[in-house]
Amino acid sequence: MLENASRRLSALPSIGRLLETESAMALVRSFGRTAVTGVLREVLEERRSALRTGRAVDLDLFAILAQSSEILKTRSLPSLRPVFNMTGTVLHTNLGRSALPDAAIAAIAEVAHGACTLEFDVRAGARGDRDTHVVSDICAITGATDATVVNNNAAAIMLVLNTLAPGRDVPVSRGELVEIGGSFRIPDIMARSGCHLVEVGTTNRTHLSDFANAIGPQTAMIMKVHASNYVIEGFTKVVPEKELASLCRDHGIPFVNDLGSGTLVNLEDFGLPHEPTPMDALRSGADIVTFSGDKLLGGPQAGIIVGRKDLIAQIKSNPMRRALRCDKLTIAALSEVLRIYRNPDRLAEQLPVLSDLSRPVDEIRTVAERVLAAFKRFLGGKGDAIVVDCYSEIGSGALPMRTLASAGVGLYPSPDEPSEGKALKRIAAALRALPVPVIGRIHNGALILDMRCLRDEEKLIEQLSHHGSVQ
Ligand SMILES: *Cc1c(COP(=O)(O)O)cnc(C)c1O
Repeated sequence: MLENASRRLSALPSIGRLLETESAMALVRSFGRTAVTGVLREVLEERRSALRTGRAVDLDLFAILAQSSEILKTRSLPSLRPVFNMTGTVLHTNLGRSALPDAAIAAIAEVAHGACTLEFDVRAGARGDRDTHVVSDICAITGATDATVVNNNAAAIMLVLNTLAPGRDVPVSRGELVEIGGSFRIPDIMARSGCHLVEVGTTNRTHLSDFANAIGPQTAMIMKVHASNYVIEGFTKVVPEKELASLCRDHGIPFVNDLGSGTLVNLEDFGLPHEPTPMDALRSGADIVTFSGDKLLGGPQAGIIVGRKDLIAQIKSNPMRRALRCDKLTIAALSEVLRIYRNPDRLAEQLPVLSDLSRPVDEIRTVAERVLAAFKRFLGGKGDAIVVDCYSEIGSGALPMRTLASAGVGLYPSPDEPSEGKALKRIAAALRALPVPVIGRIHNGALILDMRCLRDEEKLIEQLSHHGSVQ
């Protein structure tokens, strides 16, 4: 037995012998000698230890090279790469939120190559302001008198608080002390921005008098936070924005409204439920409104601050803004997305977020029918695939209670699998292991793949047919 193992050990090809082959040389050209030698060594070592423990291994030179090539290819994949979002959550924060329109992607590439007019006024030949590329469109769309843009909405809120209320009191309704996920909590943000949070009212009911009683000489502003990812129902009372605005005016303090998603259109025009817009918030008397660029707006990650000119000027002169500013890629993309909003008739067609959200369920079901066979093949007898009705969510905290009727492919493990749960996890893992990972959602004993956001059907079918399958 031992003798046999040692004879087989000596039958393993050496590193030198492997490196002389045509295929190893091709690998060296692609991945470099150090990486190839390292992986060959690993693969040989793995086989050696298998032999020592008496396991069967393939000693063939070509098998060793093929395995090494697979390892090198997998390891050279960037860790940040595209996936198929079939979770049913359109604006999925962990999957990068909104898909950008082609024009915005082209604009990013254009400025990424080299120098651009980021902070340069070409006509005057003098230093410019990076906000100028987006501010006039933001103001035209929202009706605001001025605006500025930072890295994301969390940054926008911090900057507003730190500018308008450092060391002072900010009353917020107890029903609006939001946690957004990823550790964004209003009370923590307040503290880090140097403000003193004054909790007002109760979880379910807050009255105007609660706010009026909370205002004192230390009060810097009143803040309203859109309860984007939850709903308080039943015996509830929220103070209307107009009343808060007028209370603030009486005391000579600003009224700030954090909208979160801040869609720039009336979503009902697209067959979707209503979500408050920055235009609504400004009309209701907010002095400052903040919202995200990559939620319902459908642009790049950004935080947009709109409102009164004098307050925006103060915000822009806060030294913290330098640390929170957007880069040229974001500004290029945002400017292009805002340009699309100039023509509202073509929005649903040109803005991927809106086209995904307003996609008719019949069309989604046809997509599911077209890709069904490829999923059946991929399962290879380890289960069954059928077209199913399902529900999508908008995501990123927008309209948490509203789902959108959708359709997809449901993958069910074969009934003779000993454990349904484990079999489902294996199917999900095999789909995640594809070159463009397919991400679904496990629900009621099935892996549901919602087809709402699928654009490249050919790519999906191609990789399901040519790469791996369920083991
Ligand atoms: C999403 C959200 C934020 C955070 O915005 P980011 O762009 O993710 O930084 C803040 N407030 C509300 C109400 C939100 O919904």
